Amino acid sequence: MKKIPKKEDVIEAVETVLKRRLSVNSLKELKDLVLEELLKKDRMFRLSENRLRKILAEIKGLKIVGGFKNKNCPICGSELYPVKVRNLKGDFFTIGFHCKKCGFRGLEGKIIRYKFVYVR
Ligand SMILES: [Zn+2]
Repeated sequence: MKKIPKKEDVIEAVETVLKRRLSVNSLKELKDLVLEELLKKDRMFRLSENRLRKILAEIKGLKIVGGFKNKNCPICGSELYPVKVRNLKGDFFTIGFHCKKCGFRGLEGKIIRYKFVYVR
């Protein structure tokens, strides 16, 4: 019998994990750590990366920075907008991406590395 943890339980587990470590290399790694915490409460709990991602977006004070591989927001899945700068010659180039929906910002890069920072 699989059980779905409540949102409050997931948030609590995220906070416990992030007290121990401030950065993880991928959403999957974070999910594994959070699930490990949840399983201490109930061994039947299950958690998908998708659900975790949605819950992370709702946690106030949690900032997530990181590079990413695709053009969709790693937090809420919306379309990302390029952040452009202009050099002295007047050429525009992309230095990163920005999500208008949840405020995620990421630098352009191939390696996904999430860093979770509490600002509360
Ligand atoms: Zn987003």
